[in-house]
Amino acid sequence: MIETESQFLERRPQRLCLMCGKCCRVVTASIPYDEMVKRAKEGDKESLEFLELFEPFESVEAAKAVDKEIVENIPDYENRTFYTCRFLKGNLCSRYETRLGVCKRFPSSPWAVYPPGCGYAGWLFVEREKIMKYVRGLKEEQLKYKMMLQTTPELKEKLEKLIASIDENIKLFAKYGSEKW
Ligand code: SF4
Ligand code: SF4
Repeated sequence: MIETESQFLERRPQRLCLMCGKCCRVVTASIPYDEMVKRAKEGDKESLEFLELFEPFESVEAAKAVDKEIVENIPDYENRTFYTCRFLKGNLCSRYETRLGVCKRFPSSPWAVYPPGCGYAGWLFVEREKIMKYVRGLKEEQLKYKMMLQTTPELKEKLEKLIASIDENIKLFAKYGSEKW
């Protein structure tokens, strides 16, 4: 169930991409623009690649003029920088053969932030549901061991190890909110 990014990408059905270009036309980043520039100057590969592709819109309003729905879909969008790719021509990539890894990999996980209308939306939803079901199963198993701890103290050491190991697995998904599933 816990798979690497490359395993995920091997399974991802490429045919679902609608080639709408939305994920290239208006995008944002998890870090502010100034921080992105600073990291790029320090040689950070991800920041360098991002800035090689994307140029910032002059304002949020300018990004909204290109695709209001994408912008307003992003939490706290008023305080974000939005970008557009220099290489997008119409809906198509003008450097498809030499596009960067970041482009080839999108969407690279079930929790990727995708624009409204992305062809992967339904598939990613199902993938997230599968993971949440898996984590709920882990929690059930963990609860069973916790109850056994009350009735079979002689197994304390073994049960505590099992509980801790399940905890580690659940924590792998903590950044996606696994504590609440
Ligand atoms: S937004 Fe989704 S469907 Fe559209 S080009 Fe990007 S990956 Fe493909
Ligand atoms: S280089 Fe091509 S695939 Fe990558 S963001 Fe730009 S247009 Fe999209």
